[in-house]
Amino acid sequence: MPYQHVLVAIDLTDECDPVMLRAQKLATSSEAKLSVVHIVEPMAMAFGGDVPMDLSMLQQQQFDQARERLDTFVKKHPEISPDKCHLAYGQPRQEIHRLAEEQQCDLIIVGSHGRHGLALLLGSTANDVLHGAPCDVLAVRLKKAH
Ligand code: AMP
Repeated sequence: MPYQHVLVAIDLTDECDPVMLRAQKLATSSEAKLSVVHIVEPMAMAFGGDVPMDLSMLQQQQFDQARERLDTFVKKHPEISPDKCHLAYGQPRQEIHRLAEEQQCDLIIVGSHGRHGLALLLGSTANDVLHGAPCDVLAVRLKKAH
């Protein structure tokens, strides 16, 4: 059975180009719909969840910047219709799963660095998304190891 609706998770760095290319090819060959999502992570999460100051203004700026970058990304990829382009706020795994379910996607595509050593112990978004996913997950291997 070919896939019908592919959801690509993009981190809006240069690295999302190979992930997007793979997704486009797959969606075209399966004649599937293609949606993209970027998640803005709560700043407090980066500080361990307990921050003794109000981050709401910074958080809004971060969200606005992400919106601008996502708009630029969509302009570069006219094959993605604006209504298939999602910006969400929260924890990437949770939001990607939620959107995949809501949009009835049958494949999620993420990039993977193929980390090793300590970074492997710390985990990755690809690894995180795989666990408990509501559908298939494809991890596109990214060449540069970080
Ligand atoms: P990472 O493990 O954080 O290096 O990210 C690996 C892959 O996870 C990226 O190539 C994206 O496909 C996905 N990803 C990471 N962060 C986000 C994010 N904030 N929003 C959507 N997808 C993301």
